[in-house]
Amino acid sequence: MPVSASTLTDLLARGYAALPCPREVRLEPGETPLDESWCVYSGDGVSRDNMALESLSEGLSAVFGKPPARGGGRGAKTVRLEIVPGTVAAGTAEAISAQGYRLDVTADAVRVTGNAPAGLFYGVQTLLGLLRPAPGGSGAMELPRGRIDDWPDRELRCIHYDTKHHQDRLEAVKSMIVRAAAFKANAVVWEIEDKFAYERHPQIGAPGAFTAAEMKELAAFALRRFVEIVPIVQGPSHLAFVLKHPEFAALREDQANNYMLCPSNEKSYELLFAMYDELIDATPGCRYFHVGTDEPYFLGDGVDCGCRARREKIGAGGMMAEFIARCTEHLKSRGRTVICWGEHPMTAVDVPRLPAGIVNAVFQSVEMSEAYRRQGIRELIYSPVQGARPLFPEYFHSPDPAKPAPGRLEAIFNTVAHGPARPFDPLGVLLAGWDDAGLHLETFWLGWAAGLSWGWNPAAPSPAEAAASFCRTFHGPEAAGMVEVYRLLDRLARFWTGAWDLAPSRRGPSYQRRWHPRFDRTLSLPRVPDPENLDNGSFFNARYAALLERAEAAAADCQRASELLLENAGRVRRNRHALEVFLSIAGLVEDHVRTLRALSAAERELDAARADVGNVRYGSAREHLARAAQIARGAAADREATFRNLRATWEKSRLEKGCSVDGKTFLHVQDDTKNHPADWTPDLGYLVKPARELGLEAWAERLDAAAAEFEKRHPKEQKGWKPGGDFAEDG
Ligand SMILES: [Zn+2]
Repeated sequence: MPVSASTLTDLLARGYAALPCPREVRLEPGETPLDESWCVYSGDGVSRDNMALESLSEGLSAVFGKPPARGGGRGAKTVRLEIVPGTVAAGTAEAISAQGYRLDVTADAVRVTGNAPAGLFYGVQTLLGLLRPAPGGSGAMELPRGRIDDWPDRELRCIHYDTKHHQDRLEAVKSMIVRAAAFKANAVVWEIEDKFAYERHPQIGAPGAFTAAEMKELAAFALRRFVEIVPIVQGPSHLAFVLKHPEFAALREDQANNYMLCPSNEKSYELLFAMYDELIDATPGCRYFHVGTDEPYFLGDGVDCGCRARREKIGAGGMMAEFIARCTEHLKSRGRTVICWGEHPMTAVDVPRLPAGIVNAVFQSVEMSEAYRRQGIRELIYSPVQGARPLFPEYFHSPDPAKPAPGRLEAIFNTVAHGPARPFDPLGVLLAGWDDAGLHLETFWLGWAAGLSWGWNPAAPSPAEAAASFCRTFHGPEAAGMVEVYRLLDRLARFWTGAWDLAPSRRGPSYQRRWHPRFDRTLSLPRVPDPENLDNGSFFNARYAALLERAEAAAADCQRASELLLENAGRVRRNRHALEVFLSIAGLVEDHVRTLRALSAAERELDAARADVGNVRYGSAREHLARAAQIARGAAADREATFRNLRATWEKSRLEKGCSVDGKTFLHVQDDTKNHPADWTPDLGYLVKPARELGLEAWAERLDAAAAEFEKRHPKEQKGWKPGGDFAEDG
């Protein structure tokens, strides 16, 4: 049942934010202050190197500036950690029960009891998330007295981490894992593509790709925090990152297209399994492996390879099921459970061809789910954090004002908390953060955290409370006005997306998918005037009047967002990088506003020049022309400066996109089928590609040339004229 925005959990009613929201909360009157004098005591089952202990120590250190003392003698106030099987969630499945914990807060003691190590770790995350500054400004924190019993509704809670078109730095990946674990994610499904240095096929890994040793380090780092890395190696489609290399072109289903490999070619499996094996070796201790399998548009098209004959016999869906079965055989022998996108072209009739025990990561329909259940295949509830929109997810606003729909946050709630997959006892949830449009990782956390939260506890909170609690926990209790920042950025991204004309793409339509048109964002620049009479066919201000009006509203939003972000940059202690990234996004939109204003002003200069010709004020006309060119050049220079700032900010946490490392250069060949904005350019330039393609600099040059020609033809003011004075027209 939908939860109204006006509902309020007991914790928030007491002024405490918690995401996920604990399942059973019994609060008592009074708060317990916690300060640096508190000790941490490891009780039953908690070894000195226990991760919950380490996490608590780190968390308290970050608050009090020094780690808490271990032990706790007579009279000392203690946070006691212990593991006592069966403390909470009795009767649930073992995998769920192991994640359960109890948090008791009394006047002078805090006790976290996990059913198992994972549960204890989650209890500590809840404790750290609840801490809020105690009144009086002493620097002490406080917790609400009472008892929390908590365990997850769904066993597996995945964030989908997509690095198709960028690579985060090693430390940034670790930070992502720590934060995901704090929101009680226990799997990072990593669409790693070419960001892994495959040793047997060194062409595939992009320059700077993570080595096997680095992957092992990340996998161990994650596992210690009860997070499994689940590598994705796509197949048979979405393989442009492999098939773009001439060495692998022979494996293409269609020689003219780098998107898909031939599933009838034995060498396809040799390559895929070699890639699987390296990633399996680099992620020891992880249980799952994702084999992709979405959008196989050309499955069965190949004639000579035998695919066409197979499709005629068992259909494209049957072929896909065979492909998954084949991959599963290999992965099972390596001890991994297969996860796939079990979608079109498979239908319920194809499901019996699939091996039991695999996991479908994307709920399709009741009919398919029934088939999956009969086949012994469990499912994940799939919900994307973002669609295809550039810059920032549509958390609050439907991307298309013509078709009103709930924003992403509400859609995630509807899908995860009470969607149609629920009755089929899903294994877990998967919150996708696609890299297609090239958004920054920091923009996904609100959706990831909220979705993970409803995977843990579908009963609460409401989407509105989730947003508020997220901002309190993610940005810290000092943060103010952050929900408004997310709303503003959402609105700004919507403005930017619609602040262009759409022209047929220079790339042409998608290969063999002419029903899937491609567009480029562009604007018509003011006309360069005729050098004879400076007729400029003025149109820009009239044609774009409504857009220019929206741009002024966006300018106000940019200003408000920037002010809030700058204020918070001086307040918050957590996740400050997100604030910088958000400022850079507001900056990019602001730059587009500046460009629109510049084009409007430039046309007004051209209009004035034209009027001057009518009044035979040639000198003044030339000045207007020069100003128009100067305005255009200024806008281009501003754009490049904005972009340089954005790049510097984004690349604090990312490698330089498309970089060369140790003499290895990045081979940039676009996907022949997909047209992901982030794939438009090897570097971050895709973010300013539409603005650059306006050609403001070239426009200014053409204007200079027209002005020079005008000067040649009209070297002087006409004699006997008083500029601006009265004159009688002929006739
Ligand atoms: Zn084939």
